[in-house]
Amino acid sequence: MLHFTFLGTSSGVPTLTRNVSALAIRNSKNKDWILVDAGEGTQHRIQQAKLSLQSLVAICITHVHGDHCYGLIGLLASAGMNRRAEPLTIIAPKEIQQWVETTARLTDLYLPYPLKFIDVDAATQIHQVTDELSIQAHALSHRVPSFAFSVIAQYTHKKLDTQALIQLGVPKGKAWGDLQQGKDIEFNGNTLKSADYLQTQTQQVHAIVGGDNDQPELLAQACQTAQLLIHESTYTQTTLNKVGKSPMHSSAKMVAEFAQQQHLSNLILTHFSPRHQDRAGQQAISDEVGQFYQGNFHLADDFDQFTLDTTGQLSKVNLK
Ligand SMILES: [Zn+2]
Ligand SMILES: [Zn+2]
Repeated sequence: MLHFTFLGTSSGVPTLTRNVSALAIRNSKNKDWILVDAGEGTQHRIQQAKLSLQSLVAICITHVHGDHCYGLIGLLASAGMNRRAEPLTIIAPKEIQQWVETTARLTDLYLPYPLKFIDVDAATQIHQVTDELSIQAHALSHRVPSFAFSVIAQYTHKKLDTQALIQLGVPKGKAWGDLQQGKDIEFNGNTLKSADYLQTQTQQVHAIVGGDNDQPELLAQACQTAQLLIHESTYTQTTLNKVGKSPMHSSAKMVAEFAQQQHLSNLILTHFSPRHQDRAGQQAISDEVGQFYQGNFHLADDFDQFTLDTTGQLSKVNLK
């Protein structure tokens, strides 16, 4: 299962109720987590969400705009002060590496752990981050190069071939238990090898987290195996028509129509313009999504948490 915590859902600038972009994605089987984007103030949000920088395994930065990365360096410095020693993978545009390295040099910042930078252009192949978590980047369309990230959790477990054992007449109980645990057993004068009766089963959870983007259809291919899309919806269509196309963002309608065409079962919208953050603004976005998309959808608030399981079931975590 993947567990999502929204740490910032405002576009451009922080507001009193929403910080700028950041999203924590945790493998629910352990403490490993991935951070997608790190707007200014993200490290404070991380503390409030009770996430540890020690168990952070990778940071993905979707693009170089400040509302998606200005919190990165402070967060890296704090992890150093907390004596992090494990290497940290950063998948980001190459300018982010230059910026981090220049800032470190100019501000006398020494990190006691290695950073492993991966240029996002080279991350369009699946990149394994831990035994169970992997990441793949997908190019989007924005004023600067922008990317979405597939975050995939793959779980394998061994299942006993009980049909075969029943046919052989092997009694349930200790014999089955031993085989399940990888031990060979003696039965009717023969050795039954555990490996012959264990089948490996693989289950996958796949979510896509988009960066800023004005062409959701660029994710069509990636969405074929995704159970959840998290995408910006900066404006309603009416606002986008007024603002014009130059900021290169998506409206709720654009994302909803795309999700409907793809028959996506789950959609979470985020990165709302400050003008759409009050009750009426959120209602307008929600109404527009509902008009064009029949699946399960949510508008994210800061600190909202969700789980996505291997069957593709998305659930909002009820906090108190
Ligand atoms: Zn943005
Ligand atoms: Zn942007």
